[in-house]
Amino acid sequence: MNPALRDHAIGCGGHASPRRPRDTDNVTDSKPGTSPLLHCAQALRLVADHAHATVPPGPPVQVPLDAALNRVLAQPLHADRDQPPFDRSTRDGYAVRGEVGQQPLHLIGSIRAGEQWTGPALQPGQAIEIMTGAPIPQGADAVRMLEHVDRGENTVKPLPDKPLRPGENIVPRAAEACAGDLVLPAGTRLGAAELALAASIGAATLQVWPQPIVAILSTGDELVGVADTPGPMQIRNSNSHCLAALVRSNGGDPHTLPPVADTREALEQAIASVRSTPLLLLSGGVSAGKYDLVEEVLLNMGAQFFFTGVKIQPGKPAVFGRIPAIGNLPAQWIFGLPGNPVSTQVTATLFAMPMLRALAGETAPAPVFANATLTEAVAVRPGLTRFLPAHMQSTLEGATVRPTGWQGSGDLHSNARANCYLVVPPTAETLPAGANVTLLLR
Ligand code: AMP
Ligand code: MG
Repeated sequence: MNPALRDHAIGCGGHASPRRPRDTDNVTDSKPGTSPLLHCAQALRLVADHAHATVPPGPPVQVPLDAALNRVLAQPLHADRDQPPFDRSTRDGYAVRGEVGQQPLHLIGSIRAGEQWTGPALQPGQAIEIMTGAPIPQGADAVRMLEHVDRGENTVKPLPDKPLRPGENIVPRAAEACAGDLVLPAGTRLGAAELALAASIGAATLQVWPQPIVAILSTGDELVGVADTPGPMQIRNSNSHCLAALVRSNGGDPHTLPPVADTREALEQAIASVRSTPLLLLSGGVSAGKYDLVEEVLLNMGAQFFFTGVKIQPGKPAVFGRIPAIGNLPAQWIFGLPGNPVSTQVTATLFAMPMLRALAGETAPAPVFANATLTEAVAVRPGLTRFLPAHMQSTLEGATVRPTGWQGSGDLHSNARANCYLVVPPTAETLPAGANVTLLLR
């Protein structure tokens, strides 16, 4: 850094216009003529309300089970039969009857998973060797674990200190689901557990929602593409790549435009070129500077805004709006995300991704928060909910978190050392080491 600048680095006003909050502003309410800044919780609720009323932009498609990972179910799935379909042993051991005491039991046979016991019903004083997953033979009502007997040639003797209650080590037929029960509602995002359940009921193909196309448009005269050589004062466009990655991992299909110059004409043309997509993510140009024209251009194109600033740091100038449906063009949801890379990722994670997930068909999508113990004290900025790049370490005993330290919301390095954001509440007086804190997961 130029040493002459060091003393002036913080608090230089630049060309701030009174129109919009700046990403680095202290907390003030919005300037005259703009809508008030929302609290973070209010902004989250607003997005959730709109997301709730949103429907996916196209008809469902049919895909093979294994291709449905991370897709969203468009049909409810029902159990094709009782689950389990028979009274099932959960242990390797001996099927027995009732409370059998310590008398040696006479072994009358053996049954493995996939078989059915065809011999006579089990009587008191008898035992049948049984494997995990095998059906309980008629007459038996408990399974004694292999480890809880002394095995003889044709007998098993229960160990003295291992009482056995009727029903133990058996999952009764239909205990998990009855034939016809709803097992996965439409709107479920399909992960490994959901696909396993779908497989168990014979769903070889699944109806899922199409992946919404999401237009990504980074604005800024200073931006060049990742493969270009930047001039001395230019920077590479990293936000488009961050947003495309977020879109992909949240079930969307990113459609990235080349960076757009900070002129009304260029912005209008670029936005108009992707007007047919259901969701538009813009980065940059929503702050208070002279060349921050995104909001003005959107307004002239008929957009309505639900918020134009949120009491968060980073990401305060974030904008959420919609261009209403017109003719055969459907409504388009719009998020104007502040251009600083950490601001972009935080606001996309908080606000834009839940809307994308709703468009992808998910029911009640929301950002994911967790808890951890803070390892070092953190500065609080009353009035602003802060989202600081942080590293969470989790063990069997629980999770701890430490901020990765940053040079502000442009610090991609700190952001990449982080694996979550530490949420510093606006009301906290102090956040000392040892505090139980909230994390925004990413
Ligand atoms: P803005 O929100 O347009 O005022 O930009 C705020 C800061 O983020 C400026 O330092 C920009 O150079 C930087 N920035 C804006 N867009 C991008 C982008 N696509 N990739 C990386 N940095 C950006
Ligand atoms: Mg800019």
